[in-house]
Amino acid sequence: MTEPIVKLRPELNDIPAYRAGQRPAPRTDITPYKVSSNENPYEPLPEVLAAVRDAAAEIHRYPDISNSELVDRLAERHGVDADQVVVGTGSVAICEDLAKISAGPGDEILYAWRAFESYPIVTRIAGATPIQIPLRANETHDLEAMIAAVNERTRLVFLCTPNNPTGTALTNTEVRSFLDAVPSDLAVVVDEAYAEFVRMPDPVDGIAIARDYPNAIVSRTFSKAYGLAGLRVGFAIAHPSVAEALRKVATPFGVSNLAQAAALAALTPNVEAAAQARVDALIGERDRVVAAARAAGFTVADQQANFVWIRTLERTAEFTETFTAAALTLRPFPGEGVRISIAETEANDRTIDLLGRLGAQE
Ligand code: PMP
Repeated sequence: MTEPIVKLRPELNDIPAYRAGQRPAPRTDITPYKVSSNENPYEPLPEVLAAVRDAAAEIHRYPDISNSELVDRLAERHGVDADQVVVGTGSVAICEDLAKISAGPGDEILYAWRAFESYPIVTRIAGATPIQIPLRANETHDLEAMIAAVNERTRLVFLCTPNNPTGTALTNTEVRSFLDAVPSDLAVVVDEAYAEFVRMPDPVDGIAIARDYPNAIVSRTFSKAYGLAGLRVGFAIAHPSVAEALRKVATPFGVSNLAQAAALAALTPNVEAAAQARVDALIGERDRVVAAARAAGFTVADQQANFVWIRTLERTAEFTETFTAAALTLRPFPGEGVRISIAETEANDRTIDLLGRLGAQE
């Protein structure tokens, strides 16, 4: 760590760095694929590209600070009032702003662990204390233990469903029971970054939950199902008072006019249908990889996002090396497991082949 030359907040020392998924090294023998960042492997839809090109003519101007057209469209799309919608520079910014508005030094932010790696970071940035409740053996949130951990210092809860990196999702009944059990003035975030990929009985309906529980906040993103990760746009639906607080702390003009235009284009019915068809194809690919991993002898929990989690424990380095040698960069969590994004068909085929080989070596 570099010694600071000016006085900095000492708690920054406790902030873990965000580890972005690695890009593969160039190769001449085979096509490398990045399976480390849960991106959408499809190129942008033509209507989205056209909207971005048109918007590019206006980049000498500041964007609409209140994202009004996009806010109105999202409100209409989800059946909520416009004052309940907040657009942010990716849902990661929404997570950070939620921590900022709810917690400070001495307060606690509660979440399952392992979950999205930004939670400890945004907690520390707010100056609050992270309370991490270990996942259950079946890779799902231990909601009972989380309820038991709520106390008068708890100011924010993140429920990550589907959970990054374990791919497991909560049911709608579970989330509602959780909200019934915790104080009604405790902010509870339902982080649904991968909502569009869920195919299970009793799926979480975060929007309806946010409508029914004033203390619930749903966060969604255009990065995954809509394939706009590079433009940074996500949104929250919350009670108007929470939405107002989120707008106060957001970076002014954070969401570029390119991002606003792309998200609006993505929400037109025919474009959204095309994106949904791609999501369906990715789900088919996910299920194919999960079936192959199980056939190779690995225990894989029910996967509901656009990636597959394998708890590789002490074999994590071996998996990482094997995949890297085959020009696939997965996301390793040393000593815990690996997260492999569902990507181009050829990448998924290669993943299946490697899992077969690694399984045979068990
Ligand atoms: N929440 C979860 C659970 C995620 O996995 C991610 C992306 N890795 C995000 C939020 C943030 O996504 P973005 O900022 O691109 O909207």
